[in-house]
Amino acid sequence: MKIVIAGAGIGGLVAALSLHAAGLRDVRVLEAVPRILPFGAGVNVQPVAVRELAALGLAESVRGAGAEVTALSYHNDLGQRIWHEPRGRASGCVWPQLALHRGVLQSLLADTVRDRLGPDALSTDARVTGFTPLDGGGVEVLLAGPAGDGPETRIRADVLAGADGLRSAVRRTLYPEEGAPRSNGTTVWRGVHRSTPFQGGRSMVVMGDGHWKAVVYPLAERPDGDGLVPVNWAVSRAATGEPGAPTASGDAFPAAVSGWRCGDLRLGALLAGAQAAGSFPMLDRDPLPRWSFGAVTLLGDAAHAMAPMGSNATTQAVLDARSLAHHLAAHGDPARALAAYDRDRRPPMNRLQLLNRAQGPELVIDLARERAPHGFRRVEDVIPAARLADVAESYARAAGLDAASVNAPSPYGCHRPPPGRSVEAAHES
Ligand SMILES: Cc1cc2nc3c(=O)[nH]c(=O)nc-3n(C[C@H](O)[C@H](O)[C@H](O)COP(=O)(O)OP(=O)(O)OC[C@H]3O[C@@H](n4cnc5c(N)ncnc54)[C@H](O)[C@@H]3O)c2cc1C
Repeated sequence: MKIVIAGAGIGGLVAALSLHAAGLRDVRVLEAVPRILPFGAGVNVQPVAVRELAALGLAESVRGAGAEVTALSYHNDLGQRIWHEPRGRASGCVWPQLALHRGVLQSLLADTVRDRLGPDALSTDARVTGFTPLDGGGVEVLLAGPAGDGPETRIRADVLAGADGLRSAVRRTLYPEEGAPRSNGTTVWRGVHRSTPFQGGRSMVVMGDGHWKAVVYPLAERPDGDGLVPVNWAVSRAATGEPGAPTASGDAFPAAVSGWRCGDLRLGALLAGAQAAGSFPMLDRDPLPRWSFGAVTLLGDAAHAMAPMGSNATTQAVLDARSLAHHLAAHGDPARALAAYDRDRRPPMNRLQLLNRAQGPELVIDLARERAPHGFRRVEDVIPAARLADVAESYARAAGLDAASVNAPSPYGCHRPPPGRSVEAAHES
């Protein structure tokens, strides 16, 4: 079975490795950019995704490239704690939660794809522009000429997986009327800056005043000789809601949050001299009624781009990739495999997209702001403890991040069935 993956992001690369591990060896990843460079800032890999990377023999190398996160807390702009929870192994999960630079993770996965699948399995400067379904099954994948000019090329495949991100060309071909991603008016600045460790060195901290929000977490555990660690930071400004209000300018963001502090974390000091890797509108997509159409499907952000709440996007792309490979290995027929993958992954992702649009677990920051704009003595006086716990726990269950889900054996064994038999049939006998 020849499988083409559009996009060498985290989802596309993990899909390639999972397909290879499942015994499907004719896999090609087509990446639009001429070279894979370390763009972006930090991402979180939640324990359930570490479990899946461990099945690919990658947990140790990913672990070595970042920091373990053992605590998460939400605060108001006065630094008062609204919610705190242990994360990863500290919360009873068998696997850790890891934070690392997206570019480091992508390069590690790309190198592993080249090592395991061969140097020709991953092509850069290969932009997928669309596809044509073939009568009788399969698909013809359309590719722009190198460097965007030259004649378009075509590749025949039995399966096309669109892992080509927020502005997916595969999704656009499936849903030509959909248009641009949806913006909620929020602007996000993010980057990586060297700073002194805070709150024990393994904590993710989110602070907000209902308008501005700051998220920080370390990308390394041990400080270098200068006593500093790389820290991922993201500062966002929600839309004012006032028609014609100016968009936030590039230098507005440090000033708005520089007075915020909580415990030994001083945002002003942390962000002093920080250079934003960029500023971005916060974008997402609507849930789709269907991802899989015959020989073509979507995964990762191409399938379910969601607002960045709950540190989930990378994790869910890994789970998509594992599920896709599992179902392709389990079913001889690509269309049946892709339909089974769609049934497995789309319903929970549709729910998660909507939960994230409604602020996900970070909702408690807005609740605290609405109910106690000038702060509180005890958070339970303004938000009942049961409500706080419910926001966190129901989100974790919806995203499959709760310890019970994480510690269960992976449903994506990716075993290749004996010839002529599906994995399910082999397990049933
Ligand atoms: C450059 C970049 C920087 C990012 N930085 C961060 C960050 O700092 N923090 C964070 O939380 N998330 C970041 N993200 C998003 C994050 O990587 C994803 O939300 C998550 O990892 C899911 O990954 P994905 O593989 O589905 O999509 P993506 O990571 O978006 O990967 C999609 C890949 O497809 C490629 N591509 C796009 N169009 C085509 C095409 N037509 N043909 C072939 N290839 C195509 C892209 O170049 C990219 O390599 C970033 C994404 C990108 C592309």
